[in-house]
Amino acid sequence: MDKILIATKNEGKAKEYRKLFEPKGFEIVTLNDLNDPIEIVEDGETFAQNAAIKATALAEKYQVIALADDSGLMVDQLDGAPGIYSARYAGDHDDEANKQKLLAELAGVAPDKRTAHFHCAIVVASPAGKQLTVEGEVNGMILEEQRGQGGFGYDPLFYYPPFERSFAQLSMEEKNSVSHRGRAVKALMERFDAWLNEVR
Ligand code: IMP
Repeated sequence: MDKILIATKNEGKAKEYRKLFEPKGFEIVTLNDLNDPIEIVEDGETFAQNAAIKATALAEKYQVIALADDSGLMVDQLDGAPGIYSARYAGDHDDEANKQKLLAELAGVAPDKRTAHFHCAIVVASPAGKQLTVEGEVNGMILEEQRGQGGFGYDPLFYYPPFERSFAQLSMEEKNSVSHRGRAVKALMERFDAWLNEVR
């Protein structure tokens, strides 16, 4: 069976990709399945560059198809911050501190000026270095206080006007149907088979 190596240690993410690729006959493995995985410096300037750095490094080193994603929140009033630094905006992967920093940065900014979007890039790379890049975005507004208990990261602060709720108030299915990641995954599934035919 062909393998796809996913550039993550997050088993939740692996599970989602397993659901998409196992029906196509792929075995999904993650960084947790590797002995001593290589260190990758994500020094790109965009989500797509960082995803490509991860996917191409893994595909070349382990001679498999590798998939990496990179996502984050971009706030217009903050010139696109936290952007590629979303996970470590206030330090080291502390969701609560990140949200508090975002609220502080936007203190006094009127509701209609609090526009933002989530962005997600997914890159699949072949062992020979051929890449497929897809991206997805969703627009929303940053709330003045947290709403809802679901989701992760900045979800309780991200209000999605068409549903009149925050991302943390949506079911997983509702969020996937409109989210940056859901949209990128949809584009990936539309283009993956043709890409595979080209690289095989
Ligand atoms: P990753 O690249 O998917 O690991 O996402 C990086 C960071 O962006 C996360 O740690 C979150 O802070 C933020 N982020 C990405 N996607 C979402 C989302 O769907 N909801 C909330 N926060 C997100």
